[in-house]
Amino acid sequence: MRYFDHNATAPVCAAARAAWLAALERFPANPSSPHRLGARAATALEEAGRAVAGWLGCSPLDVVWTSGATEAANAVFHHLARAGAGEVWVSALEHPCMLAAARRWLGERVRLVPARPTGVADLDWLAEELRRRRPALVALMAANNENGVLQPWREALALCRAHGVALACDAAQWVGKLPAAGLGECDFVLGSAHKFGGPPGVGFLKVPRGFHPLLVGGPQQDGRRAGTENVPGILALVAAWAERERQLAAGEAAERERWRDQFIAGLRAALPEVRVVGEGAPRLWNTVAAVMPPVPDCRRRWVVQLDKLGLAVSTGAACASGKEQPSHVWLALGGRPEEADRLLRFSAGWDTTEADWQALLEGIRQAHAQGLRAPVAARGAAPG
Ligand code: PLP
Repeated sequence: MRYFDHNATAPVCAAARAAWLAALERFPANPSSPHRLGARAATALEEAGRAVAGWLGCSPLDVVWTSGATEAANAVFHHLARAGAGEVWVSALEHPCMLAAARRWLGERVRLVPARPTGVADLDWLAEELRRRRPALVALMAANNENGVLQPWREALALCRAHGVALACDAAQWVGKLPAAGLGECDFVLGSAHKFGGPPGVGFLKVPRGFHPLLVGGPQQDGRRAGTENVPGILALVAAWAERERQLAAGEAAERERWRDQFIAGLRAALPEVRVVGEGAPRLWNTVAAVMPPVPDCRRRWVVQLDKLGLAVSTGAACASGKEQPSHVWLALGGRPEEADRLLRFSAGWDTTEADWQALLEGIRQAHAQGLRAPVAARGAAPG
């Protein structure tokens, strides 16, 4: 199977797997325990915190380990609610975990930052509104999970700084695909290991001092997140991240971006009606969100047909209930609701080859030529 759904979950990479297995052997004890084995595990966690802080550019004291980005998002807005925050302004393009957590903890105090049809949050709107009012926090993701469009988080950070407003950045799709340097300047930064080759169920959150914990019931992590730390998971997260930063430093993303662009050119040549979401904007090198030619029950047919041809692709929008709703990202970008059913997401990984992209193109050509027969059985949209 050729896997084009890395934005949902990337397979665990060799370095992470080795680190996880080694950690099971080397660190069997609870890092809070008073004996030497406990101290050894605690030291390994401290080293892991220093590594993550180094990539982000922040203090190791600001890094909290979580079970992933969803928990981290809840922790951010829970903290703000406990701190008595007034309004928070959340980009309309955020992942549902940010939007839902903001609403869960702050209810009516959530205001959406609109987006432009180009694919990015509208910073003119933000600049204008910040002149009038000061929210407690602005939330803007680093890279969008549905279409890969890079969001102007650095510019948003400068605006927020100028007005004394905190910025939270969901970097779940950025970390491991682009260098993390500078993200640590944001007040909150969150990410998740399973998006870049680490195991599922472990992530990180950079927090400011005076953080109110979401999980209570133990003194772990200086009281900022109760619960025994997932030592093997954390060490595997660090191993995967180290591997990605090494690949990025070696310039290995450049050729992958070229393969993606060749795919887009081939797709357009084969199906001239196809449109790529956010094409004019800088995007992740691994992601292509495409509006496919109209076919009844479009996305399910494409997904099932490509699956039969050995290609795992996604529709891109999270759908917890199994009932398809038009993607909120698509709608926020001004997309027509009736076209939302034509959206497919192809997301590659570091191990995806030029031949894989070409096979995907060939599969799409073949599926289209076969007339996209109705699916036998279809599942809900893939998350992520
Ligand atoms: N934020 C973004 C941008 C994502 O793509 C995802 C993936 O689903 C999440 C948050 C949630 O991550 P997790 O699965 O670690 O809770």
